[in-house]
Amino acid sequence: MSARTSPLELPPVTYSIIHAITIPVRCAPGAALVYALLDLVSAAVTPIGALVVGRFIDAAIASVSAGAPNSDVWRYLALVAAIAGYQWVRQALRTMADLRLTLALRERYRTALTLKRTRLAYRYVDDDATWDLIQRVAVDPEGGAIKAAYHHAIELVSFVIKVGGLLAILTSIVWWAGAAVVAISALTLTTGLRGGKRQYDAERRVAQFDKRVDYFSKVLLGRDAAEERALFGVTQVADRHWRVAFDTAMRDRIVTRVRWYASAYLGNLITQGAWIFVMIVLLRPLASGAVSTGLFIALTQAFTNLDIVWGFMQTVHGLSSDAEFFKDLTVFLSLGEARSAPACAMEGPPALGEIELRDLCFSYPGGDRPVISGLSYTFRPGRHYAIVGANGAGKTTLVRLLTGLYDPDSGSILVNGKPLDHYGSAQLSRFYSVVYQNFSRYQVSLGDNITLGDSFGPIEYALRAAGLSEVVERLPRGLDTPIGKLEEDGVDLSGGEWQRVAIARALARPAVVKILDEPTAALDPIAESELYDLFHRVTEETTTILISHRLGATRIADEILVLDEGRIVESGSHDELMRQAGLYSRMFESQRSWYEAST
Ligand code: ADP
Repeated sequence: MSARTSPLELPPVTYSIIHAITIPVRCAPGAALVYALLDLVSAAVTPIGALVVGRFIDAAIASVSAGAPNSDVWRYLALVAAIAGYQWVRQALRTMADLRLTLALRERYRTALTLKRTRLAYRYVDDDATWDLIQRVAVDPEGGAIKAAYHHAIELVSFVIKVGGLLAILTSIVWWAGAAVVAISALTLTTGLRGGKRQYDAERRVAQFDKRVDYFSKVLLGRDAAEERALFGVTQVADRHWRVAFDTAMRDRIVTRVRWYASAYLGNLITQGAWIFVMIVLLRPLASGAVSTGLFIALTQAFTNLDIVWGFMQTVHGLSSDAEFFKDLTVFLSLGEARSAPACAMEGPPALGEIELRDLCFSYPGGDRPVISGLSYTFRPGRHYAIVGANGAGKTTLVRLLTGLYDPDSGSILVNGKPLDHYGSAQLSRFYSVVYQNFSRYQVSLGDNITLGDSFGPIEYALRAAGLSEVVERLPRGLDTPIGKLEEDGVDLSGGEWQRVAIARALARPAVVKILDEPTAALDPIAESELYDLFHRVTEETTTILISHRLGATRIADEILVLDEGRIVESGSHDELMRQAGLYSRMFESQRSWYEAST
């Protein structure tokens, strides 16, 4: 990849409005500079234009009195035409430079943001507050926010040049007039600053309601809830929630906008009044001849044409809102990443070996109690484990710690005697293969659902072990058949069949530790038991960890760990645990009827 197309380096530093200029310049130096130059020259042309137009009018008046046009008229007319021509060409060139900048930002800035996003540690994706921040920063990953900030920065400089020039002309005629206008503009500056911050804050607040609006729209209109909608008529409840969220978001937005418009219009009114005042002040020098008729007309026209207050406030308002965006960007880029690089250079994933948990403690960020507390255990290579326990006992959390999605608050996890952070995420993802409760249903072909684009040899045995052979035979194009509802010729699978696809995906991978975190909810207890039997038979050379709250399905495990409130309260084989007559045997007895048919 060449430097121009490689993702932009975005180190975790403090980002500010300066980066509104440096990021576009680094992405597309030529386009960014052309864009800025076109606008800055145009700004400088405004006061020069006023002088030229003034001279032209004066020359025209002189010609009328003389009865014939003098050469000045033609000279100034040519200049006026040149200025108009420049403004016209500028529009076209500016659009092209802007387009080039957009493309460069998309290529380099967006790629950098997306890369960062995919590398974020799982805990940030899982956490609501950081998830909202991620959404805000990446909501317009095409560089929209950066480009808007760049435009605002240039507008501000243009504004200073444009108004500064006009004020300089004014000051040369009436010395205090320029100062009076600056004083009035300072008032509108603070209003603009406050308005921009308020608006970004409102967007932050409103985001949580937008999230609800999105969710309830899906419930009301989406496919997932279609069955329940038909059966339970959830429409009323969802509609009520949708309306509340929508109204709240709308009200907040409207209130912020109305406040901003009210203060902006007030500022506009004050300054319009000031301009009229300045023009009245110019009447005296006009009468005395200190200012020519032409300059008086040109200045009056320039000032009234310029939406000085409104434009200025919009720019400052925009910049202040951009500054809030850069605060978000700073936090986003400083968020920790999943362990991407191993602590020491090493080839391949860890070999099949021991996984030792030493005195693990963990609470979720913001959680008020430990979910895992003082847990120690050693998983031996090649053995089959089951982790059982009531809902909320901490089973899934333990898997997240084991696989490195979360780091424990204290204690350690050793894989083959080395701490987990000794390995990179690429190594861990080849060491573990996990089927999660909420596994994904990829709307691609069955084959791609299993391999996910990786090539690791034949997958037939995984399909057989997951009980999918019949499904493959039934599908019109076998493994190449698209599954799901996306493709026209796609074949949708039942809930249980989708679960088997997820299990086959885990089985097909050469990972030496396979974890199944209750992916079998759509299967009946007996089918689940049969599937686990099969699973064990084909995973002889691997360590397996099954998680289930259905104890019958897990009794074939070599070792069963009973988890309660984040601790292992019992462990042993099914028979040993039954003999102990503790929590496990009580739970097993209460579920016995589920398996009566199979025993
Ligand atoms: P199990 O898998 O045994 O049902 P979990 O590990 O999913 O239990 O959850 C254990 C506890 O941690 C529960 O009280 C649950 O509410 C809490 N918990 C789970 N996931 C999160 C999360 N992402 N953020 C905060 N708390 C969580």
